[in-house]
Amino acid sequence: MKPIGVLALQGDYREHIATFDAIAVEAIKVRSIDEIDACAGLVIPGGESSVIHRLASTYGLFEPIRQRIAGGLPTFGTCAGLIMLASEILDKTDDQEPFGGLEVSVRRNAFGNQLDSFETDLAFKGIDSLVHAAFIRAPIVEKVSEAVEITAQLDDGRIVGVRQGNVMAISFHPEVTAETRIHALFAEIVAAAR
Ligand code: GLN
Repeated sequence: MKPIGVLALQGDYREHIATFDAIAVEAIKVRSIDEIDACAGLVIPGGESSVIHRLASTYGLFEPIRQRIAGGLPTFGTCAGLIMLASEILDKTDDQEPFGGLEVSVRRNAFGNQLDSFETDLAFKGIDSLVHAAFIRAPIVEKVSEAVEITAQLDDGRIVGVRQGNVMAISFHPEVTAETRIHALFAEIVAAAR
């Protein structure tokens, strides 16, 4: 069976691999299109989306990854990964482009300086008890198309989890809080798509 690939250009890809290890799902670092094509799913980790964009472009990965996602490769983004999977980035850096995959508009660093990092418990679609969620300079989903399913919201209604077909993304970082159930949901999407 093909493993899940975690894009290892920048950000917390090691934590994602450790989270999959904890639930006995095989995951490997990927840095080339051949490595990505040997995988059944792709994770875009948290980090800094403008840097992920710049490195993907420098290494000639931007367009091939965009095409793989558009072609149906199951993909999971956290935080900067959510930003990279949006169809529109509000307040992006000048030359920043997303891979796309989700018909959503995302605002970067949406919580400002006052509250740039915090933790809270959230309901998550498909998981039967609350999920502990760490937000770190997190984005918010400000607009979704009708094709997008909302999987998680803050108490005030702000959207922090979305899914469209085989592409899912969240504003927060389960990979840093030992929360494995969202990675398990993604592994199910990958298994169903195989
Ligand atoms: N603020 C970062 C960005 O714009 C995302 C932060 C994160 O991934 N923890 O990409």
